Amino acid sequence: MGKIVSKLRRHLPWISLGCTLVGCSATNLHTESAPKQLSRNEAPLATAGVAPSALPIAPPPGLPIVPPSNPYTEEKMTVETRHFYTGPPHRATEVSSGKVAYLTFDDGPSENTRKILRVLKSFGVRATFFVVGSDTAEGRSLYKEIDAAGHALGNHSYSHEYNRIYKSPEAFMKDVHKLDQLLEETVGYRPDILRFPGGSNNHLSWKPGGKGIMSKVARAVKVEGYQYFDWNVSSTDAAAPVQDRDMIIDAVTSASRGKKSIIVLMHDSTYKTTTLEALPIVIGKLQAAGFRFDKLNKSSFTFQFLTP
Ligand SMILES: [Zn+2]
Repeated sequence: MGKIVSKLRRHLPWISLGCTLVGCSATNLHTESAPKQLSRNEAPLATAGVAPSALPIAPPPGLPIVPPSNPYTEEKMTVETRHFYTGPPHRATEVSSGKVAYLTFDDGPSENTRKILRVLKSFGVRATFFVVGSDTAEGRSLYKEIDAAGHALGNHSYSHEYNRIYKSPEAFMKDVHKLDQLLEETVGYRPDILRFPGGSNNHLSWKPGGKGIMSKVARAVKVEGYQYFDWNVSSTDAAAPVQDRDMIIDAVTSASRGKKSIIVLMHDSTYKTTTLEALPIVIGKLQAAGFRFDKLNKSSFTFQFLTP
């Protein structure tokens, strides 16, 4: 384990442990040189039929745990972590009847993805995976498994590199098209749903692209026929490299209270082990609160921080 940790630290400064944090690069995430998944997670997760309380609670041993701190004071940690929206009015369209939960998983595929697929299957729940580029045999296989299991694939950009994709609308679309092409080769279609790395109101885009870049990029994706989705419930699983499992559960259950349609932000990148642990409990609590589950499509309920 010591070896793994030192390798992990060498490859991934703490800030890139959370895939949505700044510096989340394709190199860290999606290449064969990425650090191997922690051994405890290599054991198959027999979620079906296992009581949620039987799932492991403690974070993986040896993983550097960031001491409790307010992520919002960290200038660099603004992406996909915010759960208190302070921006301009959003547009949201409620579904006509019933309570619907759209679980979304960003930044995969990774070795965590397959375990999440198992959990979803055990509950008969469909979800949406906003994936990034992973042009390896394993990556392609995981795209196919997501698709074959009946989940939705969405575009989360190929590289997820803020300084590259948010230089201009053209740069963003180029990166999106690169992933589209890989997905078309792999699963046979190009998704028409998209999530911006960092969300549509992220400020990290300002440095490469200027203050108005997100409006321009959002218009560009609309013109090309994509629908984009932010979230109205954050699991907070990107607020720390390995978020406390119970905090994830509490965040989802409290933020979903009083809402009829929820888009839940979660991550299936390599280190989001507690997201996996929380998932069966989160699903159970949402079911108990009367939610049914669905996957996103272009005409689904959406929640957008920024409307172009
Ligand atoms: Zn992301």
